[in-house]
This record gives sequence, C-alpha cells and structure tokens, in this order.
Amino acid sequence: LFDAEPPAWEIDAQSMVLAATVVLPSGPPGEFDYAIPDTMADPRKPDVYVEPGRRVRAPLGRGNRPVVGYCVAVGPKPSSPSRPLKPLRGVLDPVSLVSPSMLRLTRWMADHYLTPWGQVLEGVVPSGVRGRAGTRDVTLLSVPTKVAARLTGLELPPKQADVLQALAASSKPLSLKQLAMRVGCTTAPINALRKRGLIESRVERLATDGLLAEDVAVERQPAKRLNPDQARTLDTILAAVDAGEHETILVHGVTGSGKTEVYLQAIERVVSFGRQAIVLVPEISLTPQTVGRFRERFDRIAVLHSHQSDVERHRQWRRIAAGDVEVVVGARSAVFAPTPHLGLVVIDEEHETTFKQDTAPRYHARDVALERTRAEGVPLVLASATPSLEAWRCSQPGAPERFRLASMPRRIGDLPMPAVRVVDLRVDGESRGAISRPLYQAMDQALRDDGQIILLLNRRGYSTHVQCPACGYALKCDHCDVAMTFHRQDNAVVCHWCDYRSAPPTVCPDCRSPRIRYGGMGTQKLEAEVNARFRGVSVTRMDADTMRRPGSHETALDAFRHGETRILLGTQMIAKGLDFPNVTLVGVISADSALNLPDFRAAERTFQLVTQVAGRTGRGERGGRVIVQTFDPDHPAILAAVRHDYERFASEELPARRALGYPPFGVMARIIARGASEPLLTAYLDQVAETLKRAVQEAGAKVRLVGPAPAPITRLRGEFRRHLQMHSPSGDAVRAALRAGWLPIKPPEGVRSVVDIDPTDM
Ligand code: ADP
Ligand code: ZN
Ligand code: ZN
Repeated sequence: LFDAEPPAWEIDAQSMVLAATVVLPSGPPGEFDYAIPDTMADPRKPDVYVEPGRRVRAPLGRGNRPVVGYCVAVGPKPSSPSRPLKPLRGVLDPVSLVSPSMLRLTRWMADHYLTPWGQVLEGVVPSGVRGRAGTRDVTLLSVPTKVAARLTGLELPPKQADVLQALAASSKPLSLKQLAMRVGCTTAPINALRKRGLIESRVERLATDGLLAEDVAVERQPAKRLNPDQARTLDTILAAVDAGEHETILVHGVTGSGKTEVYLQAIERVVSFGRQAIVLVPEISLTPQTVGRFRERFDRIAVLHSHQSDVERHRQWRRIAAGDVEVVVGARSAVFAPTPHLGLVVIDEEHETTFKQDTAPRYHARDVALERTRAEGVPLVLASATPSLEAWRCSQPGAPERFRLASMPRRIGDLPMPAVRVVDLRVDGESRGAISRPLYQAMDQALRDDGQIILLLNRRGYSTHVQCPACGYALKCDHCDVAMTFHRQDNAVVCHWCDYRSAPPTVCPDCRSPRIRYGGMGTQKLEAEVNARFRGVSVTRMDADTMRRPGSHETALDAFRHGETRILLGTQMIAKGLDFPNVTLVGVISADSALNLPDFRAAERTFQLVTQVAGRTGRGERGGRVIVQTFDPDHPAILAAVRHDYERFASEELPARRALGYPPFGVMARIIARGASEPLLTAYLDQVAETLKRAVQEAGAKVRLVGPAPAPITRLRGEFRRHLQMHSPSGDAVRAALRAGWLPIKPPEGVRSVVDIDPTDM
C-alpha cells in the first residue's frame, strides 16, 4: 500500500501554484499553463486581474516568444523547480470578454469543428469588442464625502477653493478638462488638491462618440389576433418557454402563413419574464422592413450585422451584455450575442446557406444555436417554408434527435397559394432572349392590370461566358479555374471569385479568330432586354453590383414598395422575405442554374429558391401567378415546387440521400488543401489519405473516404485546390479519424489544409 505513494522528496519538490490555462488565437494549438503572479491575482485590482475570458500576455516555448492568448481557466496546477510554470507577463483586457457559458460553447465548437479553441474565440469575439472601439479611459474627479463635510473650514489658496467649491457643487464627477473649464483655471490647482487628497479620482471607460444613431422611434403596433394555425404553433412554443426547458420546435409554414407574428408573440412572453431573445435572420433580410417589425413591438432591440463599424458593434455588444436589450436581431454571428439571461433563440429561414460560415471557425449557426440553447436550457425555434432536410428529418419519427413539428399549411386570410406554370424552354424558349413568349404575355398582362413584377435570374453580369466557336477556347480567370463574366457597365470581363478584371477580348486570345462569342445571360443583359421590350416601364436591378453602396438596398425596395418601380429583377437577394401585396407576377428566368451545380444539395437548393421566390406573389387580394422557365420541366424538385409541396419533395429526396449516406443520414467532412505547387499538394493529401485510412481501419470505424481529387474549383486566387471527402453515419467517428489521421500530419511549407464539417460550398 505504502509503496504506491510517491517518495517524500518528490512531494516536496512539487508544489501547487495558482495557474492560468491559456489558448492561442494563432500559433500552436493546445492549452498552456502559466503561473499567475501575485500582482495579477488580486480582484481588488480589476485592471490587472487574471480571470477566464480575458486575454493575457505570455512567453511561449524555449525562446519565450511573447504571445497573446485567452485565459480559459484558472486553478491550482503543479509546478516543480525542475519544470517550473512560467509566469504570465501581463493582462490585456480589464474585463472578461467571454462569459463562462460562452467559454463552454466555444470549447464545444473547437471539438466539433476541429478548430483550435483560441482560433474559435478570436473568431467569436468581435474585433471591436476586443479593441473596445469607441471608448477611452477618462479620469473622473470627485470630492470625498469626508472632505465635503468640512469644506468651509479649509484654508486654501483662492483658485483651489474655487475648484473645490465647483466640484463639490457638481451633481456628477467631472473630468480634469471639464473641471478646469468650469472654474476657468489651469490644471495646476486641481492637481495640487489631488496631491493633498482633497480630490479623489477614478478611471472609467467612457464612450467617446456620443453621436451614434440612436434607435429610431417607430410607431408601436399591437399584437395581431392569431388564426388557429398560428395559435396552435404559439402554444407549442410557449409550452417550452413556460417549462423553462430546452426543446427545438420546427415551424414549417408556407410563405405568407404568418410565422413572424408567431415568434414575435413568443418573444413577448420571454421578455415579460425579464429574459432576452436572439433572432437570427439571413444577412440579406436585415432590411429596415424586417427590423421595423421588431421595433414596432419591442422597446429595446439590438441589431447586429456584418457591415457594422467596430464602434457600433462594440456598443451593441455592451448593451446586450449589460442586459439593456430585450431582443437581438442579427445575422449568423448574433448566435454569440452575450445575453445575460437568454430565454429563446429563433432562426428564421433556417434553411439558408448564409448560416454556415465559410472561414474559420467554419460553424453552422443552427448547430451552434442547438448546442447553446441545450446548454442554457431554453427553447430553439427554427422557421422556414422550405426546411433544410437536416431539420426536417429531426421532426420525423425515428430520427436520433427529436424536434417538435408545428405546421402552418395555409396563408394568412386563407389567400390561395399562387398558381405556378412551367415553361419548357426546349419548346418555348426564345433563341434571342431570356423572356419566353408565355412569360412576355404574362408580364404584359400584369403591367396592364397595374400589378408589379419580380424576375429572378441568379447570375450577375451581362454575359456569363466568353467562348470561341472556332477553336473551343473558353475565357477563364488568370488566377482561378472559373469562367470570366462580361460586365457591360464597366466594359470589362470580371472573375466573380477573385475580382480580377481585364479588357474584353475582341478576337480569340488563342486562335485570333474574330468570331469570339459572348454568351449566357446575366442580370445586366436581362435588364437590357426588359428595357427594350417594355419601353417606358421603370425597372430596378438588384444584385451584388448595384447594391454596393450602403443604403442602396433600402432605396431600391422603397421605390418598389411605393410603386415607383414596376419591375424588380435580380439575383437571389430578391427571392427572400419580401412582402409586397401588389406583386402579381413572379418570373423565374432559369430554374436550372442551381440544378447543375456539383453539389449533392443541388435539388434542395432549386426547390428552395423556386418556392421562396414564388412566395413573393399572391400576398394581396389581387392574387398572383408564377412562371418558371426550365430546360428540365420533369425534374422532381421543380415539379414539387410547382405544387408547393414540400413534403413530397422531402419524401423523394430523403431516400436518395439515405442510399448514398449523405446528410442528413450521415456526416460529411471535407479536407481542403491549397497551395501554389500542385505536386506538393498531391503528395501531402495522399499521405493524409493513407494515415486516415489506417486510423479508420484501426478504429474499425464506419468512415468512407472519397478522393483525394481536384476540388470542383481546381484553382482559386492563383492556388491549386485538392480535397478529400469523408462520409460516415457518425460524426464522432469522422472526428476521431481526423484527430488520428489529419491533425498530426503537418502540411509542408506552402500548403494550407483545413477541415470543413458538413461543408455547404465547393
Ligand atoms: P411568413 O413569415 O410566414 O412569410 P409573415 O409573418 O410575413 O409570413 O406574414 C404575412 C403577412 O400577414 C404579413 O403582412 C403579416 O403582417 C400578416 N399577418 C400575420 N399574422 C396575421 C394575423 N394573425 N392577422 C392578420 N395579418 C397577419
Ligand atoms: Zn479560338
Ligand atoms: Zn479569379
């Protein structure tokens, strides 16, 4: 028994010291322990206090290179004279940036997405918050109560007496400058008083910019009387809210069924409990119209989006953290909003791809929200007219994770769903333009009836490819394996991936043939065609090119709302969320653009896009119709969208996914490696494939490897790209394999390698 105890000399040598565990935003992954010097362990000195969630300065490695890292834990750790813990060098943040629950959430993300914890933290805490943008330290002066009591008995030079009088009379503390201004003196008498202890000072962090746009006042609107479908859905959500438990509720409601009203009322309940709600919407829907619906109902809302300045974001973050905000409305990253008492999370248009981040940490806001609401014991509401198959499957019997399903199959006021007509472009296509005869006639009729029109074409630019019929040459970007798009306004050919531009060729760069052809239809060309065929009708184009300036989005939508624009045409940014009762016709110029993508979700994307854009019409009493142009009129995704039949689409698509082991029936991971040297890239990824294969075999895991192979876009911004895909019924098996077979293989100099769990892009 006694033999098991360590010898006495070892006990003596090892002592416990107070240590901080630190993770690094860049540099080596892993957790590093440092001793906390006594000067940084005193909570009465909050400026230099080490606690979890603050950044610290520390020496790294043999050379003691100074690095900045996040303190993620504090506690006793063993230290010995032979291997002493190095002491921390300093504290960066005077307050904690990350709450304990957010530390747990980011830890989970690090594991789930195989991204170093420090990198996750750096990606989650906005830079404006780290830099405390828009604030500075101000020294505030006041008269101690003891001094104030015996003010008249003090013998002081006249200037100092004036200063003391003025400060004692002030209702709030003053800065040095303010006090000097008020008395009309230099700072000398003030500093003299400070030295004698007659004035005390403290440092406070104050906003420097008082001119930030305050929340605009909006006329308040009462809650609407819910119809039976809405009431049932609200009850389902409130049952979870009142129980104070986590539950995920999938609200599947057709476009115009009044989903927003339901969750607004659920949030009202949450707010009445003194808790906060977070509503995630796709970035593109953060329009004044959407935000306005929140302002009509709640006093204190915070909006978070990616175009905010650091100052504005920091300000919102602090309001939220202080509990001053009832509802946070924001894009993807608002899932990390530091609400002190979270009560509910809503993800509107849950199926949207913008909820997936495509740079590290490559998270999906739906997964993070699920984990966060589970940990904090609050309900999660997912709302969509076209739920992702991932969410849908969880609402069906037999799924490993159970969501509660609430269906809203009817539109508000029992408005009918718009009639959809398919135009078979093989038969009715126009050789010289984008608008078929049936679509032209419908547009003509809609305009005559004083209606408005939305036209969807999901490709920007004028011509989408430049080709030589003589030799087959196709113009590609110099830096990417991507076709160049001709932009007429700029008179340039442009790469939509890296923005490389060059002069449009007039002869084939390869064979010098003058017959080089500009083909394919982009929104600019469609706009020209509409202008030519509907003379005098006002048209607005909305795409990434026309919506560059801040506010242009609002201006365009306002003009459309007020009827100044009759035809709105654009890319997918017009397909979502818009609620304009006077739109009586929607035209889909090409339903096939998404179908041909090299993506197993192509059918799902097509169904979503057509259904969503179709939902923009028939929202008023005048009804509405939809015309869908396609070369593939029998495609199941298009047929289901035409019938507004989500369940039919899901019941056809799910078995296909199951057969292939694709999500939602399995987890997919993708290793993407890129670098300037193709041989180096190939050698590296072949090695990874070998070690992965071995790891999978040794674990007896059900993980299937596909590749390595060139990525669908083989070259991007001058770098080659190869990828390796992994499929498995178990996410844990995939992660275990990656930990054993990918993490330890350091890519050679010049090769970068990332892992994307459940990737959504190419
Ligand atoms: P969804 O989000 O399902 O597409 P919305 O919430 O945008 O639907 O609702 C469609 C329209 O119906 C909106 O103009 C909304 O104000 C209105 N609306 C919603 N619920 C009601 C209701 N109970 N009574 C009357 N109008 C409603
Ligand atoms: Zn040629
Ligand atoms: Zn390019």
